[in-house]
Amino acid sequence: MKRKVHSAEVKQAVMGKLAARGVTVEDIAYIVHEMQSPYDTNLTIDSCINSVNAVLGKREMQHALLVGIELDMLAEQGMLSEPLQSIIESDESLFGCDETLALGSVLGYGSIGVTTFGHLDKHKVGIIKKLDTKIGKGVHTFLDDLVASIAASASSRIAHHTRDIEEREAEADDTEETAS
Ligand code: MG
Repeated sequence: MKRKVHSAEVKQAVMGKLAARGVTVEDIAYIVHEMQSPYDTNLTIDSCINSVNAVLGKREMQHALLVGIELDMLAEQGMLSEPLQSIIESDESLFGCDETLALGSVLGYGSIGVTTFGHLDKHKVGIIKKLDTKIGKGVHTFLDDLVASIAASASSRIAHHTRDIEEREAEADDTEETAS
């Protein structure tokens, strides 16, 4: 019989893999803060952490992370067949499947997610830069893009929530004015 996987097990595996690969929720929240604080000067690192956790709670994101990190780790151990082994191990610039996988998980967060992902892919903020650096040990061909994807999604989430709050406040003001 096929084994049924519980969502709590998937979430736990994702968090374990991220930690094992040296990425913390705070690292990603820092990128989110860097991206969104120009638009919201009151933005706290705690709300960025909350947003990152919410994104990490999404099944599509969890699955993308499990696939990408697994391929990075297998490449690191030389376990893939050629030519994929060499392509992933060398982070071949025309490979593109790392970006495609990561971009797929951003799409649920609207166009701000997509444009922020493009920005992060180009400018490599915070831990993304550390992961992207080809010097040093470890293969992070997929993980750098996936971290950008989590940060972009969490940023977009904050942008939309901020607008929702502003609209609710404006509506409340209107109601107050009409009432007085
Ligand atoms: Mg990559």
